[in-house]
Amino acid sequence: MKNEIQQKLEQIALNRSTPFCYGCYKEAPTGCCESCGSNDLMRLLPGVGCEYGTSWIIKHILETELEAADLEEAFEESIRQCYPEETKVGWMTFDTVTLMKENDPVCWRCALCDYESEEESEGNILSFDNGSTYFTIQALEDLIKQNGA
Ligand SMILES: [Zn+2]
Repeated sequence: MKNEIQQKLEQIALNRSTPFCYGCYKEAPTGCCESCGSNDLMRLLPGVGCEYGTSWIIKHILETELEAADLEEAFEESIRQCYPEETKVGWMTFDTVTLMKENDPVCWRCALCDYESEEESEGNILSFDNGSTYFTIQALEDLIKQNGA
């Protein structure tokens, strides 16, 4: 799954950018510089940058066109579905999730981390930066479809 999406994002990155010969400082749309014959080319993305590889272009596309998944909210939602909305302690009534979060934030964090890795291993979300940002597969597939890749 990850490879397939990665490949398609790479295709979008290639479609949007132009090969660029840094030595001659000119575009080389054929993939081979007409002036020096080099095929060791950078990619030019007008208005954004010019560098080797496509990972920086993919990063730019994800950052600007896709909203990262709000896993904290999704996790909270899943907990709310599993437990009663309110919990009584003594004569007081509390919102269960708020009570849990405020009383044991460490335990809450741990469970959130577990939830993230579970979502990832089930193939619902994907990260391209080792887990600092996640995107839902759905959002990625929509983006790919919109770009005709
Ligand atoms: Zn050249």
